[in-house]
Amino acid sequence: MTAALELSQEVRFDRALIEKYDRAGPRYTSYPTAPHFHEGFGPAELQREFARSNAEQADRALSLYLHIPFCDTVCYYCACNKIVTPDRTRALPYLEALIQEIRLMARHFAPERQVTQLHFGGGSPSYLTLAQTERLWGALRDHFNLAPGALGEYGIEADPRECPEGTIARLAEIGFNRISFGVQDLEPAVQKAVNRIQPLELTQRCVAESRAHGFHSINLDLIYGLPLQTEESFLKTLEVVIRDLDPDRLAVFNYAHLPQYFTPQRRIDAAQLPPAEVKLQILEKTIARLLAAGYVYVGMDHFAKPGDELATAQRQGSLHRNFQGYTTRAECDLVGLGITSITQFGHAYAQNFKTLPEYYARIEAGELATFRGVELTADDRIRRDVIMRLLCDFQLDRAATGERLGIDFNRYFAEESKEIARMVDEGLIEDDGNLMRVTAGGRLLIRNVCMAFDWYLANGPQKKAFSKTI
Ligand code: SF4
Repeated sequence: MTAALELSQEVRFDRALIEKYDRAGPRYTSYPTAPHFHEGFGPAELQREFARSNAEQADRALSLYLHIPFCDTVCYYCACNKIVTPDRTRALPYLEALIQEIRLMARHFAPERQVTQLHFGGGSPSYLTLAQTERLWGALRDHFNLAPGALGEYGIEADPRECPEGTIARLAEIGFNRISFGVQDLEPAVQKAVNRIQPLELTQRCVAESRAHGFHSINLDLIYGLPLQTEESFLKTLEVVIRDLDPDRLAVFNYAHLPQYFTPQRRIDAAQLPPAEVKLQILEKTIARLLAAGYVYVGMDHFAKPGDELATAQRQGSLHRNFQGYTTRAECDLVGLGITSITQFGHAYAQNFKTLPEYYARIEAGELATFRGVELTADDRIRRDVIMRLLCDFQLDRAATGERLGIDFNRYFAEESKEIARMVDEGLIEDDGNLMRVTAGGRLLIRNVCMAFDWYLANGPQKKAFSKTI
């Protein structure tokens, strides 16, 4: 796509629209969403999908995700899959199993298939020692065809509390070139209330070291809606983040208090949570401040500097979304390694066991650790494409989409047309009959737009409560 056809990145906080669409919905890191994976899909089904996809797309690049589930201490807001233990010896058998899984998994791919993206997530990948991280990298290098440094996007989620001086330099030497740090909030009282004490100076040093060692697209995570936060306190955090940390990317997540699902959240005093009205004010001011500071809204909680590759890809219509969130790597099959990790391959999704004993048993038996998954139907693939394009482009050209997917768009989505018309009436989208475009005010509610195309929400079994879309 040429610069002349760049997509709009305008976003506006529309309180009336947000209040009208205040409901729960999926985040669409996959379609169908993970609650629709089933245990009838196991290692044999995944291997069949590997073989089919290898035969059809032997030159397709790979993206690897490694899940390091351990954390030293628990952050009370956390909803991640993690194992909290200060006993670092727990990482040793996991490391061995992960290396064994790397060997097992790599056998399924021709050596020509290049890895162009690699991500260490958690939990806390920086829970591992540098020697362990290096060993893991060595196993990846031995068994997969990693693209040379500058051609690969090699990222790690790092916890500044686990990164003493010199750590970042070593991570760069090992081969990482992207990094993301959790910050959440800089206010000491809020940090205490969520059990995550992380002084600004610590994060500042880590960000400075990352810059000095050539990391691109440095990302920071913030969370609004945490206990003891006020509009004033959060905006103070934001101001310091913009001024003193100056990240290339910023994710600003809404804290969803669901203690019935996430045990650590039971340690949060609900009476200290900011009311919904305050959260809306925080969101409104945060968006205004970030836009004024020159960031663009990429979508679904994510902001980036206009020159960052994520923002550029979005303008050019080449942004994609998968289990790792937004990505510029469209051409990849995603291979998940470690407990709970998800593989997105060809026409299937597959998830690994969620507990260590089950995971270890499978790997020790020399088998893939898949415990559930789903093979996409033709309808799933069509709807996945439509939902992913909406999430990334905020618009959909019916004729072009129909041609790409081999369908008559209007006929295929006749049922959805009533919902589309309703969203037009309510100002969520504009529609000229061919091009559906999410309005600037509707962008914050993109999940709601996608929900109109989600067959399972209207027809499938409802398996799990989702978080609110705002
Ligand atoms: S937020 Fe991150 S560091 Fe904190 S408990 Fe969760 S996974 Fe661990």
